[in-house]
Amino acid sequence: MRALQLTDPGVIEIRDVPVPEIGPSDLLIRVGAAGICHSDLHLLHFPVKMREEPLTIGHEIAGTIEAVGSEVDGRQVGERGIVYLCWSCGVCRECISGNENVCLAAGRTAMPPCPGLGPDGGMAEYVRIPARSFVPIGDLDFLQAAPMADAALTSYHAIRGAKEHLRPGSTAVVIGVGGLGHVAVQILRALSATRIVAVDLGQDQLDLAKRCGADVTLESGPDTARQILELTGGRGAEAVFDFVGVDPTAQMAVESVAPNGAYRMVGLGGGVPGVTADPAGGPGWPWGASVRKSYGGTRSDLVDSIALAQSGRLTVEVDRFDLADARAAFDRLEAGKIRGRAVLVP
Ligand code: NAD
Ligand code: ZN
Repeated sequence: MRALQLTDPGVIEIRDVPVPEIGPSDLLIRVGAAGICHSDLHLLHFPVKMREEPLTIGHEIAGTIEAVGSEVDGRQVGERGIVYLCWSCGVCRECISGNENVCLAAGRTAMPPCPGLGPDGGMAEYVRIPARSFVPIGDLDFLQAAPMADAALTSYHAIRGAKEHLRPGSTAVVIGVGGLGHVAVQILRALSATRIVAVDLGQDQLDLAKRCGADVTLESGPDTARQILELTGGRGAEAVFDFVGVDPTAQMAVESVAPNGAYRMVGLGGGVPGVTADPAGGPGWPWGASVRKSYGGTRSDLVDSIALAQSGRLTVEVDRFDLADARAAFDRLEAGKIRGRAVLVP
């Protein structure tokens, strides 16, 4: 089969590789679509090899069951679904509690194994998955379904965890209206009556935010925090969802989150928010505000996200590419030329 593989730091290529063999508790999935996440770019630029042999990337996977492991009950060849990306242990305290996104097996600050980031992923014709990571999608289109696996899951998780902050009359800021952010705007719209302020560097992204339901759009820059304070009568935003996570956006959040507000860091830009134990006064972190580093989501977050898409309340803006054109798709994402989500079709 053909697979998009990371062969060396910075090098991806389409290679001919054997169709994966499955174990007794696995499924073989014939891939229908695989989304390209900005995390794949972070992976591409990671300076050391993820593993010795080439790695098939791709963690937003939708497809059809092609083969079922000998010990798997309850799954049939031909079922359509997506792949829950937290391949957690299932037995630790957090997994048992339903928090599989913070599975403890790999360590306190690690993340559970994820297809395309350790085990082979889904930018290929077929992928092997543990049967318990398969989540049915009914007749949802594969191009719409694949981004549910991360862009929607991760956004939904961050928003659900901040729901108490999203009362009518509140303001929520979405920083970065890309694959995750444009989905986040729609989830906020569907789940709350909050006023949504979308922030991005580009006008096209801000236009997309408007189409997704944002009430106000702001160009990202040194003045953005002040504009958010102005919009909120000096109070700040009850929730700030940061899908970029670099120093300037972390600083924006520190200067624009409301007292008792929520700052949710989702983007993996390595930014450090300046939260200090100083007494209050002047600009900076207000009393009572909280910061959370948010990873992925739970199975129920994924089920809820799929339901939103099935009900028509969540529609991904998809830029479709053939798997053979993956390199061009990555280049476009890198250049900031993708609106919404780029999705590969093998
Ligand atoms: P994307 O490239 O599709 O979108 C990023 C958007 O941010 C773009 O629209 C870009 O114009 C905008 N942007 C860049 N710099 C900005 C700035 N300074 N101010 C405002 N906007 C800015 O990326 P994506 O796939 O949506 O991923 C977003 C981030 O989330 C990435 O860092 C990715 O690795 C991370 N991520 C984290 C998780 C998690 O579980 N924590 C999961 C998936 C992705
Ligand atoms: Zn991702």
